[in-house]
Amino acid sequence: TGPELFALERVNARGFDLTHSQTLEALFDARDAFAKHQWQATPLLSASTAADDAPRAVITNPADPSDRVGAVVWATPGDVENAFSNATPWAAPDTERCRILLHAADLLEADYAQLFTLLTREAGKSLPDCVAELREAVDFLRYYANRATDTPPAGIFTCISPWNFPLAIFLGQISAALAAGNAVLAKPAQQTPLIAHRAISLMYEAGVPRGAVQLLPGAGDIGALVTCDARVGGVAFTGSTATALRIRSAMAENCRPGTPLIAETGGLNAMIVDSTALPEQAVQAIVESAFQSAGQRCSALRCLYVQEDIAPEFTKMLVGAMQCLSVADPWHLSTDVGPVIDQAARDGIAQHIAQARAEGRVIAETTAPTTGTFIAPTLISVPGIAALEREIFGPVLHLATFKAHQLDAVIDDINATGYGLTFGLHTRIDDRVQHVCERIAAGNVYINRNQIGAIVGSQPFGGEGLSGTGPKAGGPHYMTRFSQPDRQQVTA
Ligand code: NAP
Repeated sequence: TGPELFALERVNARGFDLTHSQTLEALFDARDAFAKHQWQATPLLSASTAADDAPRAVITNPADPSDRVGAVVWATPGDVENAFSNATPWAAPDTERCRILLHAADLLEADYAQLFTLLTREAGKSLPDCVAELREAVDFLRYYANRATDTPPAGIFTCISPWNFPLAIFLGQISAALAAGNAVLAKPAQQTPLIAHRAISLMYEAGVPRGAVQLLPGAGDIGALVTCDARVGGVAFTGSTATALRIRSAMAENCRPGTPLIAETGGLNAMIVDSTALPEQAVQAIVESAFQSAGQRCSALRCLYVQEDIAPEFTKMLVGAMQCLSVADPWHLSTDVGPVIDQAARDGIAQHIAQARAEGRVIAETTAPTTGTFIAPTLISVPGIAALEREIFGPVLHLATFKAHQLDAVIDDINATGYGLTFGLHTRIDDRVQHVCERIAAGNVYINRNQIGAIVGSQPFGGEGLSGTGPKAGGPHYMTRFSQPDRQQVTA
């Protein structure tokens, strides 16, 4: 925890400069090598392998259902039992665990061509999103590796991750648990098992023992089986609030009292733009926050409040910017908005838009391809955030207006949702920044910029209330919950 270590941690991955034409050409060539590749994912267990004739489920590209990306053998309840029986906390000294995790980060960086192609073809990510995601994954590995501890681990740590950051969040949870010396049972989201399989294969190649991390690609009950067990020493979960609440109740019945649950969950994120804001800056921040990654970020902007006196002109600018967005296959560099993850997600979002349309509340709708699971960026009018009954996880933005004297009432409404993940404010009044920051209940607050894209080590990320339990990921306190509670130490 001395100054040298701190300096080391703050070196974030460099990523790729996509404005540099030679870099881009090299990236495209490298990526093309995997354009038709077929990946296979299986459970990765310490003590057995999947039979060659095991049934496989086909994974297709959300942007193009005719593009078969690979196939997966789902884990069975027998595999879960096998994984529990053979899970072995990683007993190597902290320096050795640190070295191996740092090596894994290097291998990951070197594997960019394959990982980018997987992220695009399995998860629908654009090239800038792929670059950002790999950087974050590498940053998590290095950050937690440098905090490896010799305090007694919690034991078997179950890590359950969502499909929207299938590499970064998946590896972030796992690397923290491993740096603390636990044995990990990793259950990726059912939409993205191929990326998870590639990532764990690289961990093994780096030297992580097979008993220390086992992969259980699962659908159906596998998530419940890996969390509801007295052998579990802790659970790291990232996903929806509803699933987190289900896991919490199941753990209360099935796990030892006091078993930690680190849950990072959903958000109903708002932004306030007052009449002093710089309109061009605010519009750009809004478009990025609401529509980048097709709105499939937990941090994404869902409800925008614009001060009434600037609202007509401001809305015109915003709609103009939305109409410039290219909604297309994320394989192309010109694409701004790719597909949503699958047909079920698309149907749920389309139903929400259809209802708003029937009520005459759609302000603007752009266009999107009809093959693949695309949703056109859409702007919907609402009286306020209370009208949003759930997190709409896609490129849909809700717009409300407010009068200057209603600012505090707007903040009360935002806080009353019970969520508290991200919040954005655009204003040029310093006192207002101070006032709003003191009153808003949100884990990450952004002023005069977009509200997505936290940086490991600089901007620890996590919410409060219905948005998460803390501690924040990518911050100095995160690792403490992965050790035995009575031996924990805060390392910064
Ligand atoms: P989800 O449906 O809650 O699923 C997340 C994970 O939980 C998946 O691996 C899922 O497995 C598993 N799961 C489902 N039911 C389970 C159960 N009963 N017991 C144990 N595990 C279970 O969420 P998602 O749709 O993948 O992800 C989107 C959500 O994640 C959004 O709400 C988003 O806001 C949130 N998110 C939050 C953060 C954050 O940092 N706060 C970051 C990213 C995403 P299956 O795939 O097999 O169902």
